[in-house]
Amino acid sequence: MYPRAFHYHRAGSLKEAVAMLSQLGGEAKLLAGGQSLIPLMKLRFANPGHLIDLNFISGTSFIKEEDGRLRFGAMTRHAEIEDSSAAKKIPILHDCAAGIADVQVRNRGTIGGSLAEADPSGDWATVLMTLHTELHCLGNQGERTVPIEEFIKDAYTTALAHDELVREITVRKPSPNSGGAYLAFKRCAPVYPTASAAVQLTMEGETCREARIVLGCVGLTPIRAKQAESALRGAAVNEKSVSAAVEAARTASDPQPDMRGSAEYKHTLVGALVKRAIDVARRRALGEKVELSHIYA
Ligand SMILES: Cc1cc2nc3c(=O)[nH]c(=O)nc-3n(C[C@H](O)[C@H](O)[C@H](O)COP(=O)(O)OP(=O)(O)OC[C@H]3O[C@@H](n4cnc5c(N)ncnc54)[C@H](O)[C@@H]3O)c2cc1C
Repeated sequence: MYPRAFHYHRAGSLKEAVAMLSQLGGEAKLLAGGQSLIPLMKLRFANPGHLIDLNFISGTSFIKEEDGRLRFGAMTRHAEIEDSSAAKKIPILHDCAAGIADVQVRNRGTIGGSLAEADPSGDWATVLMTLHTELHCLGNQGERTVPIEEFIKDAYTTALAHDELVREITVRKPSPNSGGAYLAFKRCAPVYPTASAAVQLTMEGETCREARIVLGCVGLTPIRAKQAESALRGAAVNEKSVSAAVEAARTASDPQPDMRGSAEYKHTLVGALVKRAIDVARRRALGEKVELSHIYA
């Protein structure tokens, strides 16, 4: 199906894009990689009267290492993050970028667009919630910084005002002896996961000092499994503590039955994913190089 007719605007700067959003009102939408918006427009689930294209603004796509942080321009494509040596230093970021859909989608889709879309099945929000992540947003009133936990409000709903955009995403580098892993179960590459688990651990020998566990696609937003984190924090990472964490993660998940599987199936699946992700995160935290790819049915 073709989208409904719309007016196309090419923004020359992010400030100009904000001004256009404010001038054109609720009928206007930003266009980044178009990998969520264009399919929705073709299905006529989204019918914006005006599209403001961000693709021709220079300086919006970058990955920079600075002051113990990684900075991502909002228009940085998933594929650029997949290939980035800086991003590979935080392996959970590489797990995420490399596992999104297929090459075509990764070459166009952007990290800023993915977070702004807040699709409950999207990968980036789940992964970035295991790290110290902030979104730098630009609006008519100027700039503000929003932690990711406050940015994602609900399914397809963020803290952005209508005339506000994501300019940059910053991720603080995890402390030494930290390791993370992101694992999803997918029916095939170019579809969203059925369920996913992101785990970031800081280890001291075999004892877990800090843990972040976030579940994807099993709720309206990514779910932080705080009880599961508590089961690991301060404990030796062994069969007993991992079983407790897995059980707590299963309990925290709130999946809906759909074409990808029943709620019960997804409860079981998320437990298995958390278990494997803890194992890889622990080994990476202890210095082992572990390759990880999603599980495909
Ligand atoms: C076949 C297919 C499979 C996919 N599989 C996956 C998957 O497995 N995992 C996954 O995570 N994603 C998946 N995606 C989605 C993909 O990752 C998209 O790139 C992403 O969701 C949206 O990014 P985009 O740059 O394409 O944004 P767009 O589609 O251009 O925009 C999405 C929304 O965000 C808004 N927006 C865009 N940029 C900004 C900004 N800087 N500030 C404020 N608002 C902004 C737009 O107005 C729009 O409302 C898939 C897409 C397709 C087509």
